[in-house]
Amino acid sequence: MLRFFEKDPYAPIQYLYGVEKVLYKGKSDFQEILIIENPHFGKMLILDGVVQITEKDEFFYHEMLVHLVMHAHPHPKNIIVIGGGDGGTVREVLKHDSVEKIYFVEIDEKVITVSKEFFPSVAGGIHDSRVEIKCMDGAEFVKGRNGDIDVIIVDSTDIVGFAKSLFTIEFFKSVKDALTDEGMFVTLSESLHFHKDIVIAVQEEMRLIFPIVDLYTASLSTYAGNWWTFSVASKKHDLRQMRRDFTIDTKYYSDEIHQQAFLPPKMYEKLLQRKLPW
Ligand code: SAM
Repeated sequence: MLRFFEKDPYAPIQYLYGVEKVLYKGKSDFQEILIIENPHFGKMLILDGVVQITEKDEFFYHEMLVHLVMHAHPHPKNIIVIGGGDGGTVREVLKHDSVEKIYFVEIDEKVITVSKEFFPSVAGGIHDSRVEIKCMDGAEFVKGRNGDIDVIIVDSTDIVGFAKSLFTIEFFKSVKDALTDEGMFVTLSESLHFHKDIVIAVQEEMRLIFPIVDLYTASLSTYAGNWWTFSVASKKHDLRQMRRDFTIDTKYYSDEIHQQAFLPPKMYEKLLQRKLPW
């Protein structure tokens, strides 16, 4: 069987996946796009040599990225999704009836095109009438907006190359300005096992801008370090508390998961003080 070696940009190990079939291989203006079939994970989307989603486990990541903020917010109507070209994040946001508008801002149109062809169960919501696709840098899109957005979600590639614009203090300032007074923000922030310094750096930058910042985690089988973090910020409300009933259909996220996903307070403090013993 063919093999695919994944080299995460800053993880100390490599993952090796069996390849039953190469379904697509191409290059966009931004990155190399590869789609393979693996005996366990099914179809896998790989960008610049890094696994983005797999058919088998994408729901863990997409549900955990989306539903905590969407339940912590009292009435999320206007949403910005940045990145997420496979459509999984948009699919999850659309599960909330309160949503009136999603700006779906993906820099690479080609990722959307191939995802529609090879991952129809993930990309299925992209053409919903509430979704407006913008093919541009998410940092540029958010710049200069004035307080009309309820929730902003970053679903980008790792913090290298053109995704770096989504992890700067300037970007977090633009996000804050773009949000309403009750607005909330969530972004991936890498692994607590392998990338603790990156997690702390993202947290520290967000804490310079937002009055409320927190961190929750989920276990994801295909991301290097597996113990994956999500950094969240809010202008007014505590993010640990749910403000809407859990009625949507999910495979993993639930009201129980919402309560236990956040880092325990003492451990969170230790992380920020760089006192975690690993
Ligand atoms: N769930 C995946 C993960 O964490 O590995 C991310 C999947 S999604 C395919 C990531 C997308 O973010 C890519 O399609 C990439 O083109 C997009 N992206 C990266 N930087 C971006 C930026 N600055 N603005 C908009 N989209 C961006």
